Amino acid sequence: MATIPDKEPYIQDITPDWYQGKVAKLSMLRLDVVHPDVSGNKWYKLKYNLQYCLGHKLNGVLTFGGAYSNHLAATAAAAHAYKLKSIAIVKGTYAAEQLTPTLQFCKAHGMELIFVAHETYKQKNDADYLHELSLKYPDMHIVPEGGANEEGRSGAGEICSYISGEYNYVALSVGTGTTLTGIVNALPDDRKILGFAPMKRGAYLQDELKTYIHSGKQDSYRIYDNWHFGGFGKHNSELLDFMNSFYTAQHIPLDVVYTSKMMFGIRELIHRSEWGSDSKILCIHTGGLQGNASVKDRLVY
Ligand SMILES: *Cc1c(COP(=O)(O)O)cnc(C)c1O
Repeated sequence: MATIPDKEPYIQDITPDWYQGKVAKLSMLRLDVVHPDVSGNKWYKLKYNLQYCLGHKLNGVLTFGGAYSNHLAATAAAAHAYKLKSIAIVKGTYAAEQLTPTLQFCKAHGMELIFVAHETYKQKNDADYLHELSLKYPDMHIVPEGGANEEGRSGAGEICSYISGEYNYVALSVGTGTTLTGIVNALPDDRKILGFAPMKRGAYLQDELKTYIHSGKQDSYRIYDNWHFGGFGKHNSELLDFMNSFYTAQHIPLDVVYTSKMMFGIRELIHRSEWGSDSKILCIHTGGLQGNASVKDRLVY
């Protein structure tokens, strides 16, 4: 039954040329390796949602996402592996012949795609809209965009079992902040969690996430939003060059939407001596490599 994950995550020390002596240790937790199709943080956020379906004898998962969403791709593949149905409410309309590689993948894994206008999509967290959906699809477990629910947060907390005690900083990319929240809540207080937002004005998450962060942990995390490269899903040649040189030096493929922007930010902050020279930083590779399909021709991997 447990076909996912098919590989154990592991920690890999990294020594890019820009790290030299500025911090004591820089490592990467390779969650990207856990499964080719359900990679990175996505498996952890889905795990208890799938269990919920099985436990409540529901037919599958209904969730939300954009045309490049790693969450949709992972949900489609995971549901397929567990012989569950999956339905996606997709932001925007795409004709069958214009489907993005992500949506093609979803479809190939049996996901039903329901396209809605941006106006409708905006209602994704509204009680009325969700009620309507639950009446229409009573046999489905409705999971918010990005797996941002209690099941998602508690599954994400399990990532902490791979974070060894020697690190005083844990860095990761944030979208909804579900993974960060789960990790902050599950790690001891003496760790500082650094969240890197890949979109403009992502610092709003600092306050928004407080709702779900356990009391006493409100100062355990910090969100940086300086490295968005023009906005969510946007990139330039500087970022692509960085991804290529990082791969050449470290043999780690970063994704263009999330982890590349985090590592770019970390390089910048290390340059500026943001952290003391005795700092040990663990960067989490949250996966997302399927999203590189659109820039494949410009990457060396
Ligand atoms: C989805 C995703 C994130 C964001 O996860 P949240 O839990 O929504 O914050 C980060 N990195 C990658 C590669 C992702 O695919």
